[in-house]
Amino acid sequence: MAKYIGGDLGGTNVRAGVVDTETGEVTNLISVPTIAREGQDAVLHRMAQLFLDVVKTSGLKISDIGGIGIGAPGKIDIENGRTIFLPNLYGHWENTPVAEKILEYTGLRTFLLNDVRAITFGEWKFGAGRGAKSMAVYAIGTGVGGGLVINNQLHLGMDGTAGELGHTMVDYNGPLCGCGNHGCIEMYASSPAIAAAGLKAVVQGWTTKIGELAGYDLNKITAKTVSTAASMGDPVAMEIYEKVGFYLGIAISNTILHIAPDKIVIGGGGVQAGDLLLNPIRRTVKERVHMVDIDRVSIVPAELGDNGGVIGCALWAHQRITQ
Ligand SMILES: [Zn+2]
Repeated sequence: MAKYIGGDLGGTNVRAGVVDTETGEVTNLISVPTIAREGQDAVLHRMAQLFLDVVKTSGLKISDIGGIGIGAPGKIDIENGRTIFLPNLYGHWENTPVAEKILEYTGLRTFLLNDVRAITFGEWKFGAGRGAKSMAVYAIGTGVGGGLVINNQLHLGMDGTAGELGHTMVDYNGPLCGCGNHGCIEMYASSPAIAAAGLKAVVQGWTTKIGELAGYDLNKITAKTVSTAASMGDPVAMEIYEKVGFYLGIAISNTILHIAPDKIVIGGGGVQAGDLLLNPIRRTVKERVHMVDIDRVSIVPAELGDNGGVIGCALWAHQRITQ
């Protein structure tokens, strides 16, 4: 059986679709609001209903589905299918038995995985990471997520905590990160960090298109505003991306030295910036890495967009059920 449900529990929406785990094809994708403030019981019921609706609209029967994989943003007990800590989701998700509850509500065996580990799995099998023996994913969004494939295997490490690449230190005296450490790459390269750099430039009165693009409403400056300005040739915005790319290049240099991967995949919303981000990353890595043959490491944008996580979760459920 190759039909699985891949689900993605996010702070704003829960998305799910039917995934053919042999081809990577995603169908019947549905998204509903998470409304986390209603509490996790309400969210779990809404998720279960979403999964049942996905099966229903696909014309399949529950018995045609191998199982459900769910990606969640945070620390997961992958053995027991519980969420340990979801910092970006409202409410108390400590030790919530998500897999057990979804099985109870849908009759389908359910497995949990960190959302960016899921993207990593999806991109490796069916996206930008195809054919890589070892690879790393940096996903740039609200935070910076990561994931690793080492020697043809999704690398999860102790309790599934391997691959927290967003907390790679690029300055040990740097700003305090949400994880409790200082100077993590997330503090320099996440979408809010990029937006904050754009905001600062406008407030300081620099000549830049960023303010104009946001209608001179400081609240409307996002990473997208800065990348749009940069793609129009705005020097201030381009300089922001140069710096972000440089810091990412430092973090990625360390990752390359650790695992000597064939590929580094840059995903998340940050990928929209394209070469604005990839060029300074590639340049920095070339300058900084001398112990690994850098010409054989490709640094590429993710290919699956929002579907990467959905596909990866379904693959994870498939692997757990059939292994
Ligand atoms: Zn951190």
